[in-house]
Amino acid sequence: MAFPEPLERLIRALEKFPGVGARSAERMALHVLRSPAEEVASLAMALRDARMETCRCEICRNIALKSPCPICADATRDAQVVCVVEGPREVEKLESSHAHQGLYHVLLEGFAPREGAGPDPESIQHLCRRVQSGTVKEIVLATAPDREGEGAALLVMEALEGMSVTITRLARGIPVGTRLEYLHGEILAEAFRGRRPIDPSETPPLD
Ligand SMILES: [Zn+2]
Repeated sequence: MAFPEPLERLIRALEKFPGVGARSAERMALHVLRSPAEEVASLAMALRDARMETCRCEICRNIALKSPCPICADATRDAQVVCVVEGPREVEKLESSHAHQGLYHVLLEGFAPREGAGPDPESIQHLCRRVQSGTVKEIVLATAPDREGEGAALLVMEALEGMSVTITRLARGIPVGTRLEYLHGEILAEAFRGRRPIDPSETPPLD
């Protein structure tokens, strides 16, 4: 053991974060040692609060303070149209564009084969159960037109194959490689209004 036990334990814990290797974990741990005690205490508290005081909505799987989240709990929304997005930022963006009056389904993770990550399989299975429940008539794929987003869209389409639901996707006005969260609200609203059904035999390109 190169370091005293508590420090080793911190390094091992940091190494578990995505994209953090042994060297970075060590640098981060040494940074913690150099930081003022109150900053470290507030970091520890933030870690704890983020984990303990948030949850995933039992309906849309978005991160929320309570379940169901305020959007799913809103009876005025159209439960027949469910927009599939990669994360909470895309939900926020679509909400501010006012283009979508329906509900959402949040995959939370994109598809990053090189990092060994894919959309949460549990979230996709959950979407299938939502569709099977019979209320959902249209699934709007609003994942980003980049490798991760297209990969996620493909997995969702495969999972929904054969189910009686119309699958549409946003109009192709969105520049390739642009994350939804960076789009101007009006462009996003336009792409949403121009959404089109997908031919299931047409699989989105991965590159
Ligand atoms: Zn929800």
